[in-house]
Amino acid sequence: MILPDFSSRLIAWQKQYGRHHFPWQTDDAYCVWLSEIMLQQTQTVTVAEYYPRFWAAFPTVRDLAAAEQEQVLALWAGLGYYSRARNLHKAARQIVAEFGGTFPQRRTELEKLCGVGRSTAAAIVAFAFRQRETILDGNVKRVLCRVFARDGNPADKHFERQLWLLAESLLPENGDDMPAYTQGLMDLGATVCTRSKPVCEMCPMNDVCQARKEGRIGELPRKKTPLAIKQQTVFWLLLQRDDGAVWLQKRPQKGIWAGLYCLPESDSAKGLAEYAGNFAVQAADWEELPAIWHRLTHRLLEIIPFYVRVPCSERLPEKVTGQWVLPAKLPETGMPKPLQSLLENGLRVTHNICG
Ligand code: SF4
Repeated sequence: MILPDFSSRLIAWQKQYGRHHFPWQTDDAYCVWLSEIMLQQTQTVTVAEYYPRFWAAFPTVRDLAAAEQEQVLALWAGLGYYSRARNLHKAARQIVAEFGGTFPQRRTELEKLCGVGRSTAAAIVAFAFRQRETILDGNVKRVLCRVFARDGNPADKHFERQLWLLAESLLPENGDDMPAYTQGLMDLGATVCTRSKPVCEMCPMNDVCQARKEGRIGELPRKKTPLAIKQQTVFWLLLQRDDGAVWLQKRPQKGIWAGLYCLPESDSAKGLAEYAGNFAVQAADWEELPAIWHRLTHRLLEIIPFYVRVPCSERLPEKVTGQWVLPAKLPETGMPKPLQSLLENGLRVTHNICG
C-alpha cells in the first residue's frame, strides 16, 4: 500500500494532539541526545523526573565530559541499564575530544559515538538540524507494521531493513517539518497505537490502517520470542558502623551495576561469613533481612541481605577494598536501585558518634 499523505497526516495530528510539554523538546542537540538515551528502556514519566536534575548538574556537553564517572552514575542511580550512563559520559568526552565540543550534524558521524545507534542519531539530527532522517524504535515499528500490515519476524535483519526502507520512504519533503513529524511518530506509538488496546478512534491513520481493516491489530507486530529468565541468589552484607556509616565497595567496570557502589556480595552465605571475618564480627550477630527480588534483562536476582553492626574503629580492614560512607553522603553515591531501597528501609537509627 502507498500512502503519500502519511507525513502530512502525522504532522497535522502532532501539532493538534501531540505532546509539547517536555523540557527536552528543543533544537539543542545535547538535550535531544540526553533525553533519547534516557528514554531507551525507561518510561517517559520517569525520565521527566530524572532529566531536569541531570541537565541542571550538566547543562552542556562540556560539563558532562568534565564530570567524574561517579557523579554521572550517582545522578543516573535508579534509572537502570547503567551502561547507558557510562556510554553517555564516554560519548561526551568523544564530542569534546574529536568534535571540539560541538555535535556533528551528520547521522553517520553521530553513530560513531558510544551508545548512539541509528535511530538515536536520526532523532538528534531531525530535531536539532531538521535533517530528513528517520527514527525506527520499537514504537515506530509497531505503528508501521500495523498501518502497512507488515508481518515479519522482529529478530530477522532482512525484515528490519525493509522497515527502515519503508520508514525512509514516508519522510516529509521539507526538513522544517522534521521535528513535528519525528515527535508525531513518537507520540503516536506511545499514546495512541499502544501495544495493547490502541485507541484507533484517535489515530490519524484509522481510515487507512491495514491491520485495522483486516482485523489483525492484535497479531501485528509479531511478538518476539520471550527470553529465558534464569534465577540467581546472591548474599549481601550490610555493615553499619555506630555513627551510621555503611561499608560500600565499588563494583568492577564490567558486569552488572558496573562502576556503582554496592554492599559486599557473595554467591554463598559461607563466602560472606569469610568476608565478614575482616571486620571481626560474628555470624551469630547477623540479622537476616527480608529478601529483595530484582529483575535484570536475563536474570531474576534473589538478594538475601544480612545486617550487622560494627563498632567504631579508626582502622580500616587491611585486606579488603571499600570505604565507609556516612548517611549524609549516601544520596550522592551512585548505587543500584535495590540497594537504595534496602538502605532506606534496612538502616538503623544511630546515636553514637565515632570519635
Ligand atoms: S488505526 Fe489503530 S492500529 Fe492502526 S495505526 Fe492507528 S492506532 Fe494503530
